[in-house]
Amino acid sequence: MKRKITLLALVLVVVVLSTSVLFACNKETNDGKYYLYEDGVKDENSWIEIKGNKWIDDAGDGGTFEEKGGSLEFYDENGEWICSGKVSNGVLVIESLLGSSEYRKDGVTGSSDDKSQQGNTDHNIVGGICENCGVTAYTREGSYIYFGIYPQSKVTDSALKSTLTGSAGALPTSSNSGSWTSYGYYIDGSVSNFMWYIDKEYDGEKYRGVYFTSYRPCFMPSSSSFNSGQDDNGYSTGNVYWFKYEPIKWRMLSENDGKALMLAELILDSQEFYPSSSSHTENGKTIYANNWEYSTIRKWLNETFYNVAFNDLQKALIVGTELDNKTTAHNGSSNSYATCQNNTTDKVFLLSYKDMLNPSYGFSSSSGNYDTAMLKKTSDYAQVQGAYTSTDSSFLGNGWWWLRSPNSYDSDYAFCVHFDGGVVNGYVSDPTRNGVVPALTIILS
Ligand SMILES: [Zn+2]
Repeated sequence: MKRKITLLALVLVVVVLSTSVLFACNKETNDGKYYLYEDGVKDENSWIEIKGNKWIDDAGDGGTFEEKGGSLEFYDENGEWICSGKVSNGVLVIESLLGSSEYRKDGVTGSSDDKSQQGNTDHNIVGGICENCGVTAYTREGSYIYFGIYPQSKVTDSALKSTLTGSAGALPTSSNSGSWTSYGYYIDGSVSNFMWYIDKEYDGEKYRGVYFTSYRPCFMPSSSSFNSGQDDNGYSTGNVYWFKYEPIKWRMLSENDGKALMLAELILDSQEFYPSSSSHTENGKTIYANNWEYSTIRKWLNETFYNVAFNDLQKALIVGTELDNKTTAHNGSSNSYATCQNNTTDKVFLLSYKDMLNPSYGFSSSSGNYDTAMLKKTSDYAQVQGAYTSTDSSFLGNGWWWLRSPNSYDSDYAFCVHFDGGVVNGYVSDPTRNGVVPALTIILS
């Protein structure tokens, strides 16, 4: 229990919701000592004992819990909410951002009725927590939502870094990635193995290690000699860097019918819009490099990012957003690169040019303004990916970030937000200058 407690205390920004608490309990049946099971194997040294409305664990931590709906809400001795769980037939499932941990009473064989283990999508979200399966989907803090996790802050503790690096095994090479995974990034015009990652859990936290032997090129066909911002950001070849998975902070742009349209608060990553400046033909139709529907950044957001950031419950809460790709790409002037596009429905997407002029989203309605609402800082992880990060004292830490709208006069340019808060053009196959700020719509309740 201790590792989960530590994890949640550090990782979660706890929002104590002012929901009325129901005591609909039959505590006698839940009382007992529950042992941690990992892959079906009992860990005698990790346990939680619950009795009445109190809990204690193997580390000597303790507090109270309440039964609310079908789940247990655990609080520390100061009354701060820590995590949710669910108990049924002698099985206690504790939910955290990293997934669930199963504890069983002695003599109990398993949790056949645990809905959270079965990918059940029949969820009933109240205050960010599913009342059916007890999993925390999101936490809310005013107009901000914490939803999903992503590697963000660089680990600076040397002992932790060396422990993590020690656990990561042999470093990868271009011919043998070993236990690492190649990002499959472009260099010299083709995909190659020169930058890798590995995910590790330690002491209840999740971390991502990053290692590269060449710099990501600044422009897609070019080599590492035209390098990205990685070295400018303080990351050099031949070193292993570690980043902590942390809750993703989103700003709500709108809230309607129990759904929230949200934009990530930070620039979370750095990816090209499309890895070539050339157009290509699909089914007899010319597809320009700045076409959102066919872009690689759309695929990256809806596959790579989506699968890293969200658990199954969170995925079930993300609804497809119908995107206008034809008329939102410009501010009045004609844009043939936009009108030739199809509209799409996407789970994760980039905002449009017109979104940046929408006062209801908090942006200034006049284009050409240096809009402070558009300013975004790069995460440490985005910086190791090469995202440009301003060192100008007026814009310190700010980066560029992609929009999905094509430029109106050049097929290999799409709009992006400049680090000074204006909408400008970005070269689509420039992989690492512009950062990624995902947007999505989720069901709040
Ligand atoms: Zn559920």
